[in-house]
Amino acid sequence: MLVSEVMLQQTQVERVRRYYERWLERWPTLRALAQATPADVIREWAGLGYNRRALYLQRAALATAEQHGGELPLEPAQLLELPGIGPYTAAAVACFAGDAHVSVADTNIQRVLARVRLGRERAKDCEPSRLREAAETLLPPAGARDHNLALMDLGALVCTARAPMCTRCPLADACCWRGSGAPTADSATRRRQVRFEETGRFARGRIVDALRVAPRMSAQELTEMLPEQHRPHTARYLFALEADGLIEQGSDGMWRLPGQGSTSIASPKL
Ligand code: SF4
Repeated sequence: MLVSEVMLQQTQVERVRRYYERWLERWPTLRALAQATPADVIREWAGLGYNRRALYLQRAALATAEQHGGELPLEPAQLLELPGIGPYTAAAVACFAGDAHVSVADTNIQRVLARVRLGRERAKDCEPSRLREAAETLLPPAGARDHNLALMDLGALVCTARAPMCTRCPLADACCWRGSGAPTADSATRRRQVRFEETGRFARGRIVDALRVAPRMSAQELTEMLPEQHRPHTARYLFALEADGLIEQGSDGMWRLPGQGSTSIASPKL
């Protein structure tokens, strides 16, 4: 449950499926995952994106082994204490695996809440506290699991981001956004879509990908394999990746995935 929730963050189900199966084949339990090295999990994650999730998952497995005998706790408060587990993942695991009476608000549910309760087209135009409040208000006294699953399906299949099917929606009569004429966000508030290849996330991903294959690389080599526009920012990317624990620098000044050598130093040298 924890593995699927973490893999599904910002990633489509179809894409996650084969990674999930392969991951569980290699590490069928949290105890087994706790024995893995950071480099092992970063390599296994290749292609899924948001590499920090792999590290957090391994750290959560380690903390579960040390603090809970290898059994994942199902109380939201205890889940929140595990590394990398945020409010959404804690609520989802507690609700779907532990049948806890909590609201869960993934991207789809947040969009439904924004439209039905707050009259906004997009959740990102709403205050997080107001979305949380809306989720709590809608939560029925019993049956939280079914309620959350129903809202998730509604957001995924009916109240979609681009083409909501309001005439087929069971919440149409109660929907504030539809009731106010379904105003779309002012075009001035819609920012230009930045191409993924232009982002720092893309460049950081390229660095981790390179180190998945090569055991060690210098900052110069890493700079040269980046697209031109990213090269002036290599130091910043390396610093950010090191701070996240995704790479480390050995005493020889070379960069590598963590846990592959005995020495590392705190700050990057270029
Ligand atoms: S009425 Fe339309 S906008 Fe409102 S919740 Fe249903 S599908 Fe979404």
